[in-house]
Parts: sequence; C-alpha cells; structure tokens
Amino acid sequence: MNSLSAFNKFTRDLKEQEQLMPVLFIGHGSPMNGIEDNEFSRRWSQMAKEIPVPKAVLVVSAHWFSQGTQVTAMDFPETIHDFGGFPKELFDVQYKAPGNPALAMETASLIHSAHVELNHDWGLDHGAWTVIKHMYPEANIPVLQLSIDYSKGPQYHFDLASELFELRKKGILIIGSGNMVHNLRMVAWDKMNEPGFGYDWALKMNDTFKHFISAGDFQPLIHYEKLGMESKLAIPTPEHYLPLLYALGLKGNKDEISFFNDKAVAGSLTMTSVKIG
Ligand code: ZN
Repeated sequence: MNSLSAFNKFTRDLKEQEQLMPVLFIGHGSPMNGIEDNEFSRRWSQMAKEIPVPKAVLVVSAHWFSQGTQVTAMDFPETIHDFGGFPKELFDVQYKAPGNPALAMETASLIHSAHVELNHDWGLDHGAWTVIKHMYPEANIPVLQLSIDYSKGPQYHFDLASELFELRKKGILIIGSGNMVHNLRMVAWDKMNEPGFGYDWALKMNDTFKHFISAGDFQPLIHYEKLGMESKLAIPTPEHYLPLLYALGLKGNKDEISFFNDKAVAGSLTMTSVKIG
C-alpha cells in the first residue's frame, strides 16, 4: 500500500467512527406506488422512521439520464409526471419539497472526476417523488437529484458515487432509485397484482445480486454483463440498475448491509432494496 492510499484509508476509518447517514437503494417499481398504500410504500414510510432525519435528500434516479452529470439547483423543484397511461390522481400529485442550491453547489464541488453542471430545468421525477412522498409526507426536507451520464460505463458511476462520501457525514440521505431486475418487455401483466411472482431468471438474478452485495464483492456487479444470460434479461438497459452502483459506491468499510422489500413483481421486476449503514 503506498502512502497516499494508506492515508485515504486512515481518514475513511476516522470518518466511520462518527455518525454516518445510511445510504439506500430503493426499488421504486410502478409509478402507482406513489399513491398506493401497499407493502412497498409502507416499508418506505417505516424506513424513514428508522434512520436519522436527514438535512436533505439527494436522489440518483433511473429516470434522469443526461449528457454529462448534473445536479438540480433550483429553490423549488417541480413535480415531474414523466409517465403515461396512469390515472388522473397520479398526475395530480404535487410534492412540494424545497431544493437547496447551496447543497447543489457543494455536491458539484465534491465531484472531481467530472464537471457537474447546476441544473435549473429538471425537478423531481417519479423515481424520486413516488418514494420520498411516503418517506417524508410533509415535504419539509429539501430534495435534490443527481443525473446519470448516459455516455459513461458502470465503473465510472461507481467511482463517481464514492466522491459523495462526505455528504453522509453531513446528514445528507443519498438514495439510488431504480430496480435491480427491470425488464418491461417481459412483464407478466396478468400477475401484476400478485406480489412475489418472479420468473426463474429474475429470482436467480435477485439472489445473485444479493449474494455479491452481502459479500461486499462489488466488482462482479460493476461488470454485470459477465454474469450470464440471466443478467441480460434482468438488465436489458442500464438505467434502472446504475442507481444501485451509486449506493454501493458510497459504502464505507464498517457499514452493515441489509435488504428490504425483497420481492419480485409481475415476473420480470424486483423491488429488492438495500440499506447500507
Ligand atoms: Zn422506473
């Protein structure tokens, strides 16, 4: 170990003696979870009660892919209804959490591997608000989003996430919001209302993901294309998977890992979620 990496390890170990905000990966599933009182949304609500009240929430959502990395920097982010074919009740939701431009600037300054742009046009997409609405229904905690640069590979995203580690010391809750197994082309529409139903390949990949996450062995998860045929079915496109790598990239040496909402839905999706720390 060279002296610089020894120093980095030393400072990281020091940090971990302080209270660190946990990091979450949340499987968000259908936008309808935003207005439904179901086992998944109830668990989100419960999770918010189990962890310290954050000073702000920073979400890496599957639904904000952009050229380059951006962070929302407006005082009042809009609620974005980025879906179609759902009831009016869902389109009527307004989640009026404030933003935090100062935190956006601080977040951008922590990231050295990329130039992070301050964004004033996005807002809160459904990957963020359908979950956070249940966690913090009073909308009194600032919420920011960090985009996913679609031109970059998984290792880049994993590494970039680790640059945000300081935010955990400052009481910022970072959430990756996606779905580990997410194949909309193979959804069993007739099984939508039977939580727990998963195709064999989906359940197998769910177990594989959990195995490597529990073991803290993240390299196979970063190189997920090598995990066989099932991984191609589970991750036909990367947007719902990459938020997991953001959460894993923020794990400290002493963080414990646990799972919640560990369930398949509609055959080809899993809601399996991870708490780190
Ligand atoms: Zn989604």
